[in-house]
Amino acid sequence: MRTFALLLLAGVLASSPSPGHAQSSVSDSANDSRPSLFTQSIGRLLNDDFPNHDISFLVLDAHTGTVLASRWDHPEALIPLGSLVKPFTALAYGERHEFKYPKHFCRGTITGCWLPRGHGDVNLTSAIAYSCNSYFRMLTAEMTAAQVSPTATGFGLQPPAFGISGPALAGLGNRWLISPLNMARAYVELVRRRDQPGVRLVLAGMAQSARQGTGAEVDRALSYPDAFVKTGTAACTHHQHAGGDGFTVAIAPADQPQILLMVRVHGVPGARAARIAGQMLRRIEE
Ligand SMILES: [Zn+2]
Repeated sequence: MRTFALLLLAGVLASSPSPGHAQSSVSDSANDSRPSLFTQSIGRLLNDDFPNHDISFLVLDAHTGTVLASRWDHPEALIPLGSLVKPFTALAYGERHEFKYPKHFCRGTITGCWLPRGHGDVNLTSAIAYSCNSYFRMLTAEMTAAQVSPTATGFGLQPPAFGISGPALAGLGNRWLISPLNMARAYVELVRRRDQPGVRLVLAGMAQSARQGTGAEVDRALSYPDAFVKTGTAACTHHQHAGGDGFTVAIAPADQPQILLMVRVHGVPGARAARIAGQMLRRIEE
C-alpha cells in the first residue's frame, strides 16, 4: 500500500506538473513527451504478467484522467459496455426525481435479472453492487434517450442513439455504444463528484460491489480494504467471436482514489473480469 501510494505520487508529479508555476529542473526533465519511468513500469509490469491478449486494460490517473498505461486496440471506438453505464443511468434518473430512488423486489429470471433466483429486496446501492438487471429494468421503464443524454454528455459519454429507450439505457441489449476511454474518464469524473447527491449512493454501491457484490474478487486480491468497482458484460466485439466480454472498472484506494483500472476480458462474464482486475491492481501495488 505504501509503495503503491509512493509510486503513484511519483507518477503524478512526473506526468502532470502544476501549470502556471515555475518549473524546477526536475519537473522540466519530466515534462517532455517521453512517458515517465513510472508509467513505463506500470505498462511493463502488466504486459509481462498478463501477456494474454484476451485481456485489454487502461490505467488512468484517478485525479486527472491521464492515461498511465494501456493495451487496448482502438479504445476510442464505440462498443457496447453493458452494465458499466448503470451508474450514469441512475444519475440521469436522479436528476429528474430529486435523487430519490425507488425500492424493488428482484425475482430473478421472472423479472428479467441475470441471477436466476433473484436478488430479493434491492435499492439503488445494492442494485449497483449486484448489477441487478431487474432493478434497472424498473428504473428505466419510462426513460428515453433524450432524458439520459444530458447526464451522459455531462460525464463525457457518447449519448444513447435517438430512439433507444427503456432497459437499453441501462446497457441491456448492447444498443448504447460508448468509447471505453470515455467510459474510464466518466468514472474519474464520478469520483470527482463524490460528494454530490446520487453519486454518493452510486459509489456506496461500487464499494459494496468490491466487498461482496459482483466485484468481490477485486477486494479479495488487495492488501488494503476497499476499492470502488463496477462490472459489466456485453456482446463481444473481437474478430474471434465469443459469447460475451467481461468488463470491470476498479478505482483504488476508495478512501483516496489514485488509480483507475479498466479491464476487458474476452469471453468471460464481468464478475470474472473483476478477478483479473484485482490481480492487476495487486501487481501495480507491489
Ligand atoms: Zn436482480
